[in-house]
Amino acid sequence: AGMIDVQGVGKQYGNGTYAVKDVNLHIDSGEFLAIVGPSGCGKSTLLRMIAGFESITEGQILVETRPVSGPGPDRGVVFQDYGLFPWLTVEENIAYGPKEAGYPRSQVKELVDKYIDLVGLKLFAKKFPHELSGGMQQRVAIARVLANTPSVMLMDEPFGALDALTREQLQNQLSYIQKDLGITVVFVTHSIEEAVYLADRVVVMGDGAASGVAGNIKKIETI
Ligand code: ADP
Ligand code: ADP
Repeated sequence: AGMIDVQGVGKQYGNGTYAVKDVNLHIDSGEFLAIVGPSGCGKSTLLRMIAGFESITEGQILVETRPVSGPGPDRGVVFQDYGLFPWLTVEENIAYGPKEAGYPRSQVKELVDKYIDLVGLKLFAKKFPHELSGGMQQRVAIARVLANTPSVMLMDEPFGALDALTREQLQNQLSYIQKDLGITVVFVTHSIEEAVYLADRVVVMGDGAASGVAGNIKKIETI
C-alpha cells in the first residue's frame, strides 16, 4: 500500500494560469520522496491535490488503484503550522482520528500509546499544545497523523518554522520513523539540503517565472 501515480496532472485556475502543469510522477510504496523548488513553483498545490484538498483540473492521481477525489484516511497531511487542536491534550489530539473512525476504546488507547511513544512524548501526554515547544508540537502532529495508520504521509514544509537544531532532531526522528513503519512519505521543501538529506529520491520542480510554465518538473534525480 502507499503507491502513488501522478498521471498528466495539471491545475489551472479560473484566470487561466497554471499552478501545476503536466506532471507525471510514480512514487513507490515505502519511498521517501522530496519535492523541491522555489517558492511559487507549485509544490504545495501538487501536494494538496494528492491529499485531495484541491481539485485536479487535468489528468488523475492514483493511490494504489483508487483515483483521488477528496481527502481520505489512507493519506495523512502534516503542515508547517502544526494545526493541533488547542483545546485537546497531546493524547487527545492523537486519539482524535481513531475515535472519529469509531475504533473501540481499547484500540484507540493502543494506537495512542504506540505513537506517543514513537515520537518520544510519553511524559507530555496530559499537556496542552501551548505548553510545548514548536518541535514538540510538530511531533504531536506527526503522531496524530500516524495514529490513523495511513499508507501515505504528505508533509508541506513541516520543519520550516523550527530553529536549526530542532529541525535536525526532527529530521533524524522522521527518517527513523519512516523506515521503521515503511510508510510512503512525500515531503515538500524549498531546501535542497533538507531534501537530499532525507529523501530516497528528489524531484525538482521548475520555477514558473524562469521556465514560463509554472509547475513543470524539470529534472528528476535519483540519489
Ligand atoms: P509553492 O508551494 O511551490 O510555493 P504553490 O503551489 O503554493 O507553490 O503555488 C503555485 C502557483 O499557483 C503560484 O504561482 C501561486 O501564485 C498560484 N496560485 C495558488 N493559488 C492560486 C489561486 N487560488 N488562484 C490563482 N493562482 C493561484
Ligand atoms: P495555502 O496557504 O498554501 O494557499 P490554504 O490554507 O489555502 O493553503 O489551504 C488549501 C486547502 O488545504 C484548503 O482547501 C484546506 O481545506 C486545506 N487545508 C489547509 N490546512 C488544513 C488543515 N490544517 N487541515 C485540513 N485541511 C487543511
